[in-house]
Amino acid sequence: MSADSEKGLSVVNVDKNYADVKALVNVSLKVREGEFFTLLGPSGCGKTTLLRIVAGLELPDSGQVILGGEDITSLPATKRQVNTVFQSYALFPHLSIFENVAFGLRSRKFPQNEVQTRVDRRLEMLGLEEMSSRFPHQLSGGQQQRVALARALVNEPEVLLLDEPMSALDARLRAQVQVELRRLQRKLGQTFILVTHDQAEALVVSDRIAVMSDGKIIQFGTPKEVYEQPQTRFVAEFLGAANLIAGRKGAGGIDTEMGFINLTATPEWNQGTVAIRPERIRIAEGQPEKNGIKAKVTEAIYRGTNVDLWLEPGPLRVRTPAQRDFEVDDEVWLELPEEGLVILDE
Ligand code: ATP
Repeated sequence: MSADSEKGLSVVNVDKNYADVKALVNVSLKVREGEFFTLLGPSGCGKTTLLRIVAGLELPDSGQVILGGEDITSLPATKRQVNTVFQSYALFPHLSIFENVAFGLRSRKFPQNEVQTRVDRRLEMLGLEEMSSRFPHQLSGGQQQRVALARALVNEPEVLLLDEPMSALDARLRAQVQVELRRLQRKLGQTFILVTHDQAEALVVSDRIAVMSDGKIIQFGTPKEVYEQPQTRFVAEFLGAANLIAGRKGAGGIDTEMGFINLTATPEWNQGTVAIRPERIRIAEGQPEKNGIKAKVTEAIYRGTNVDLWLEPGPLRVRTPAQRDFEVDDEVWLELPEEGLVILDE
């Protein structure tokens, strides 16, 4: 093992069952030191279970958790260099913001001057210095969320675990906290592991994403990789809107119900699926030389910067800049550029 991988966090072949529910099936992953890593998946896919095992709040049935080269699988939560910010980030209502943040340091008997310096530093970093003598109920939801973060960060854990910490915030605030969280993690250079079912959130904050389904990790990658190069139907659809087109392998492409589609790479299957994101399909001026489909608009939704179109055959979904107006029943030529087409594994 290299020095770098020793510094990070590894989960090795972890299984976890609850009676006959297979919550985690042979899960392995490596989180690099200083990385913002996200576990993304639908409800019930096992992401919280995995986070709780890393936190030490749950024991795996088999497998290991390694932090900084040390096997911490059976180390109690309180002895781990790991802190968690939960979905319900309940602050102590009777304590000031300062004392909420200081709580962990006080219980570890840090001297007063050290408590003061560390808490001040975190409050300042999170833009909360003006609020230190207020009480939780005098803060907005977003500010309370930042206090919860400060409270976890003040302990300087090697790894910070975030269990859907933004799900209680409204959409606008959520978007703002996501960007702040990303910025903060960059500034601290600390390892963050986030659990979320929100694909947009995962794309915004992460260095790398592990996409989970049914207790397994299906794909790892940077936000761009998992969005643009999904390997399976599940990943293609979970990471955003995707057109899935079934076909049979032919020379230089695939035969589909919509016509022949040229592909740069050759599929390994004889019969399977290719995916293309709605924004990768072009509205062509006339019949394109390659990969053209004559289509009819069945629905057009104006979204400000874009128009979302549904078209037959398909239904195909296209997202295009809003400069041009579209009406239902308009006939258009679509072009499916080869570089936008992804061959799925199945
Ligand atoms: P959510 O986003 O809804 O929190 P999740 O992806 O975090 O979902 P987990 O909470 O890890 O999923 O649950 C994975 C599976 O294990 C689910 O089928 C769940 O019902 C089950 N499970 C989790 N905890 C327990 C438990 N303590 N006892 C029994 N079954 C459990």
